[in-house]
Amino acid sequence: MRIGVCPGSFDPVTNGHVDIFYRASKMFDLLLVAVFHNPNKKPLFTMQERVEMLSLATKDISNIKVDSFSGLLNDYVRRQNSTFIVRGLREFSDFEYEYKRALLIKKIDSEMETVFMMTSNEYSFISSSGIKELAKFGGPITGLVPACLEERIIKRISEEK
Ligand code: ADP
Repeated sequence: MRIGVCPGSFDPVTNGHVDIFYRASKMFDLLLVAVFHNPNKKPLFTMQERVEMLSLATKDISNIKVDSFSGLLNDYVRRQNSTFIVRGLREFSDFEYEYKRALLIKKIDSEMETVFMMTSNEYSFISSSGIKELAKFGGPITGLVPACLEERIIKRISEEK
């Protein structure tokens, strides 16, 4: 079985992420969307909330499973019997970071392949941080995040203020 892992913070999941999941799910028998516990970041949504929101956002894609992990990505991917990491790419700034990261990952484990998927035109400007900023100032996030999560995201961000 060919398994792909799509790691990220997903704080919160956006339509840009979901587009990548949908397209990547066609390349693998099973796509694991894995929320990374990053000790350097202070997320808005808890790990459990992000997993729950991702599960709702991907419920119509049958070969996607949502999980979470901490520690080294390579170790997690190996534990899942995979050697494929899927990352989305938006602009040049993403490329620089992702390029270094993919090479580091390969240095540790030469069989590990990072697969890049180019963002779709209509989602290229969407980021989790952009969504949070927009919602904080009452801007519309319709069409930028999964419809089933829109209210929840707005509510949480307004509570933070
Ligand atoms: P991380 O903190 O690991 O960068 P993110 O949740 O910000 O996690 O992003 C996870 C992955 O999704 C990354 O590969 C990122 O480049 C990609 N991504 C984020 N937004 C988009 C988008 N609008 N289109 C395509 N890929 C995206």
